[in-house]
Amino acid sequence: MTTAPQVGEANFADLDSFVDRTRDERLADFFELLRIPSIGTLSEHTDDVRATATFIADRLAAMGFEHVEVSPTDGHPIVYADWLHAEGAPTVIVYAHYDVQPVDPIDLWDTPPFEPTVKDGRIYGRGAADDKSHVYLHMWAAKAWLESRGNLPVNLKIVFEGEEESGSDHFEPWIIANQDRLAADFALISDTGFYEGNRPALTIGLRGLVYMQIDVTGSELDLHSGTFGGNVQNPAAALASVIARLKNEDGSIAVPGFYDEVRPLTPRDREEFARLPFDEGEFVGSYGLHSVHGEPDFSVLERRGARPTLDVNGIWGGFQGEGSKTIIPAEAHAKISCRLVADMSPDLTFQRVRDHVMSNVPAGVEVTVRKINEGMWSLTPIDHPATQAAAACLEEVFGEAPVYLREGGSIPAGATFSSVLGLPVVLLGFIQPDDQIHAPNENVRLDNLEGGLRTIIRYWQKLSETAL
Ligand SMILES: [Zn+2]
Repeated sequence: MTTAPQVGEANFADLDSFVDRTRDERLADFFELLRIPSIGTLSEHTDDVRATATFIADRLAAMGFEHVEVSPTDGHPIVYADWLHAEGAPTVIVYAHYDVQPVDPIDLWDTPPFEPTVKDGRIYGRGAADDKSHVYLHMWAAKAWLESRGNLPVNLKIVFEGEEESGSDHFEPWIIANQDRLAADFALISDTGFYEGNRPALTIGLRGLVYMQIDVTGSELDLHSGTFGGNVQNPAAALASVIARLKNEDGSIAVPGFYDEVRPLTPRDREEFARLPFDEGEFVGSYGLHSVHGEPDFSVLERRGARPTLDVNGIWGGFQGEGSKTIIPAEAHAKISCRLVADMSPDLTFQRVRDHVMSNVPAGVEVTVRKINEGMWSLTPIDHPATQAAAACLEEVFGEAPVYLREGGSIPAGATFSSVLGLPVVLLGFIQPDDQIHAPNENVRLDNLEGGLRTIIRYWQKLSETAL
C-alpha cells in the first residue's frame, strides 16, 4: 500500500516522466485505435465497431482493470471495466464513446480518414477528436498511474459506448440493466471541448428535450375552395392560429406554467455567462441572421444555455406544388420541440403545451397533440467539488482558469447518468473548437492531448483529496 500524498503536496514527477517517455508509444497506440473504422451507423462496419471494443478491452485488462467486458446490447457493445481498490476514495464512472461518424464526402479529406496524419501540431483522422481522443486519454491516464504507482488514487468504472453517433438507443436500457454495478459518486463524461480561442472549459449543463407533433383534421378529403370556402374551418389556418398562441411577440413562451419549474440564474451564474467572450455582431453575421431574437432580459448565451425554448421544427399541409390549386386542405401538421433546462419535467412540459393547444382549438377542426420523444437535462453546479477539482487541474496544467459552459444541446449519456443513476455529471473534454468533428479533416491539437493527459492524471489525485 502506498501513502497518499498530502493535500497540496502531491508530487507528479514520476507520472509526468511516464508521460514524457511514453510519447511515441502512446501516439502509436492512439493511431492504431484511429485506424479501425468504427462507423457505428453503417452495418458494413459492425465488425470494425466490435474490433474497436475488443482493442480497448484488451488494453484495459492488460493494465490491471478487472471485470473487463465487451458487454452486448441490442446494438453495438459497451466496454465495461473497473478498478476498485482505492478504499475510502471516490468512485467515478468514466464515459467516452469509441464509435465515429461516417466519412463522406470522402473527396473533401486532404488525408485518408483512417490513416492518422500529423500536420502542423495536429492529428488528422476520423475520430481523432470525437471521441477516440478521450478513450485514448483515459486509457493512458490510468496506465500512467498503474505502471508508475501500481494503483489509482480513485475507483474507476469505465463505460465506453459504441453507438453515440447513431442515436444511443441501447445505452439507457444497458445502464438500467447494469444499475447495481454502477454505484458511483459522479459520472465524468469526456466528449466535449474547449471554448473559442482554445480556452480551457468545463461544460456544466446540457439541455433536455421534448418533441411533439400536432395534427389538425378538417375533412376526409381536400375540399374545393369555391364550393366550401367561407363555410368550413381551414385546418392550415387553424394550425397557424394555434401555433401563433404558443409564443409572445417578445420571444417568451405563452404556455401557462411553462416557466414554473425553471431554475433561476444566480448572480454567480450570470457572472460566468458574462465572462464568456461573445460577439453578437459576428454571431449574426457568420450565420447570415437578420438579428437575434429571444426572451428579453437574458443574453444570447444565457438564452442558449439556461433558458427553455419552444420551436416549430416543421409545418406542412395542403398544396405545395407549382402554380395554383384551389383547395381547402383536409389536414395540416406541425412538429414542435422544446429544449428544457433545470428543473423542468419533459412530461409536464408536454402536458402544458398540449393543454394550451387544446384550449385554443378553433371550431370546426379536430386536433391531436402527441409526444414523439423526450430527454432529460443535466446541470452540475459550478461549486460542486468534482467540478472545482477539475477546474483546479485544468488551471494548473493549461495556466488559465476554465470558463463554464452550458450547452444548448444534449448528450444522451449525460441525461441517463443524471436521471437514471441520479449522479452529478462533470463534462471534461480537451478538444479545440476548430476540430471539424463530423466533417472532413477532423483533427485534434497535440498540445491539447498532452495537456489533457496531465490534467486527468492530476484529477484522479485531486479527487482523492476531495470530499464528495
Ligand atoms: Zn462525441
